[in-house]
Amino acid sequence: MALLTLERSQHSISRKNISAAALRTLYRLRDAGFKAYLVGGCVRDLLLGKAPKDFDISTNARPDQVHRLFTNSRIIGRRFKIVHVVYGSEIIEVTTFRTDSDDAVQSRDGMIVRDNSYGTSIEDDAQRRDFTINAIYYDIDNFSLLDFHGGLYDLTHGVIDIIGDPDKRYQEDPVRMIRALRFKAKLGFKLAKRTEEPLSRLAPLLLNISNARMFDEVNKLFLTGHGLQSYRELKRYNILQLLFPGQEDFIGTPKFDSFLEYALTSSDQRTLLQKRNKPHFLYTVFLWPKIEKLVYDLKVRYQSSPKAPSTSYLVEEACLRALTAQHSVTAIPAVITADIKRLIHLVYQITDDELQASQIESVAQQGLFRAAFDMIKLRAQFEPEIIPYVKFWQHYYDEAQERFVKAKALKDERLKQRQDRRKSRRSKSKRRKEEKAQALPLSKAQQADLLTAAQEEFGSDNAKERQERLARARAWRAAMNLEP
Ligand code: ATP
Ligand code: MG
Repeated sequence: MALLTLERSQHSISRKNISAAALRTLYRLRDAGFKAYLVGGCVRDLLLGKAPKDFDISTNARPDQVHRLFTNSRIIGRRFKIVHVVYGSEIIEVTTFRTDSDDAVQSRDGMIVRDNSYGTSIEDDAQRRDFTINAIYYDIDNFSLLDFHGGLYDLTHGVIDIIGDPDKRYQEDPVRMIRALRFKAKLGFKLAKRTEEPLSRLAPLLLNISNARMFDEVNKLFLTGHGLQSYRELKRYNILQLLFPGQEDFIGTPKFDSFLEYALTSSDQRTLLQKRNKPHFLYTVFLWPKIEKLVYDLKVRYQSSPKAPSTSYLVEEACLRALTAQHSVTAIPAVITADIKRLIHLVYQITDDELQASQIESVAQQGLFRAAFDMIKLRAQFEPEIIPYVKFWQHYYDEAQERFVKAKALKDERLKQRQDRRKSRRSKSKRRKEEKAQALPLSKAQQADLLTAAQEEFGSDNAKERQERLARARAWRAAMNLEP
């Protein structure tokens, strides 16, 4: 496909909409003699008039060269080496042009497991990107746009199309299948026929992806404001059950479906209100029906035994089984696993008729109480028997919410004070440096002159003082008729 170039006057991307950190990184690379482009989601989203999630840069500088240019950077990644340039909480991802090479290590299924062969040509780099709409480059040298694969056309027509042969590209990296559906959900685009066709057929290749990478992908699918649409797309292409193993009995049932649709709608709503969605809540929602069934089955199994275990023990056992199965697909970090378990225990506690009155306050004081309440509120939509519990805990929830708002305001205030102090320290030290720089440097001869003058003054001061002391002593002796 022929290269399409749009000069600055022919497109809508303005530097005003590019983060200061990204611009600084681009300029420093350019000033060091390298080529530097914005590419990927940021260009795509800016052209669509959306705020980019992050800014990615592509360059002909190798990772070590980038790292040397930025003291605030680190090299990450094994499969692909990338440089993260860190500005406070903002991270700019800088990748080196890649090229097709025989050095790429492939698995038996054609999956690229390691590839750090760097290129010098932007055309090769564009060829290696996933979709046409993700391969538009913004050149910091002259602010033009470079489109190698018809991405601008697809962007205006709302189409997601993979670059190159679809089967081969999905085999190289099956995550591209999930990415296709994520962009479809996020942007409300259509998939090109050839991009869509292999999805259900090649979906099982996703099982070859490392569980750490899958954990990140699942978060991107469900936590960033288009969870409901992602869920519908994944279901439609039979990918959902691959992400949540052992859920086959529930996926597709009206109850599970309504529950998830409702839960994901409310988490998308949170994103609109600029509230964060947390993975522990997401997994609790997805795993809930399975854990509930496991707890029920375990209860039945132990029913006739003389020493029936406590509900808490059964919940722990059910969580362990469900989370172990889930871990084979998505590597949920231990802190999040602990939160999921605590949350599920709390959900059982606040729907337990045998909860002691003395325990109520301490339950309501727990860190995850508000999340547990949200969970039963969701369930109450489909399980009328849960409604009385929602009514009972509502008052405690309101109080917990008030405490949370107050604590957050206090935290924000402290943070602001710390930032102000840091700012004032910085401006003081800047002022001191400027004052120092303003003072004229003295030559060696001038320094020597000043020293002598000071010594003479010091010496003469001492002599004067000595003489005055002597005169006073003489006068006193004379007054006392003492020997001179
Ligand atoms: P967003 O950041 O909004 O989720 P994005 O397109 O920027 O979307 P990133 O994961 O940040 O997604 O990737 C940046 C760019 O890197 C992509 O736009 C694409 O050009 C390229 N890319 C990312 N993952 C792949 C992949 N698996 N295969 C090929 N190219 C990829
Ligand atoms: Mg991005």
